[in-house]
Amino acid sequence: MRVRDPLVQISAGLWMMARTWGCNVYIVGEGRPSFIDAGFPLDTRSIGRMLRSRDPAGPEYLVATHYHLDHMGSMSRLKKQFSCHVVAHQDDADIMEGTAPYPTFKLDPLRAFYYKVLGPLYPYECVKVDRRLTDGDVIDLMGGLTVVHTPGHTAGSMMLFQPDRRMLFTSDTIRNEDGVLDGPPPQYTPDMESAFESIEEKVMALDFDILLPGHGDVILSGAREAVGRMLQERKVAR
Ligand SMILES: [Zn+2]
Ligand SMILES: [Zn+2]
Repeated sequence: MRVRDPLVQISAGLWMMARTWGCNVYIVGEGRPSFIDAGFPLDTRSIGRMLRSRDPAGPEYLVATHYHLDHMGSMSRLKKQFSCHVVAHQDDADIMEGTAPYPTFKLDPLRAFYYKVLGPLYPYECVKVDRRLTDGDVIDLMGGLTVVHTPGHTAGSMMLFQPDRRMLFTSDTIRNEDGVLDGPPPQYTPDMESAFESIEEKVMALDFDILLPGHGDVILSGAREAVGRMLQERKVAR
């Protein structure tokens, strides 16, 4: 499913905000909405605008699938603007709160230059995590979203699984950019082996049909088989 409009309804009570500076932002709930990831700090404005036209009370929960700035960068401002609860996996929460250092990445020269020049303009925006999650916890959204801890991209990377609707929010651990289903971006993934182990052992054990990635296009059917093919192709290529 290729999304071109800024806010697209995916199914009952689920929308996706695709034109952001950061990641895909998922909005859940018919009444006061909640967010699964919320983009860069730069995205706060368009999110705020959209929220004011929809529900002036703002979001109820902001769920961060991991600590990277393109997923939680707008959360501190949204939390100040509206009264909402931030939830994240316990292994990423200290970095999000600024009590543990933000890890550095080994980048190619072009990206390193880009970060050196533009990095100071977009500093990491820490936010208080109101609820620290662990594997198997259930978030009271969409009739129950189960936390699937999938470390590797970050220590506290998590997916969210809705078993009745067979939906899986995969964050950066499975992306679907430019029609290519893939694991997490290698440059920003310190432990690729663990990430793929998580996919093989935990993701493939789930009964899901719909895949909602952190970047790229949503897959509306046959997602588990597509992930199986991706794993197979990776094995052949190695
Ligand atoms: Zn990431
Ligand atoms: Zn990302």
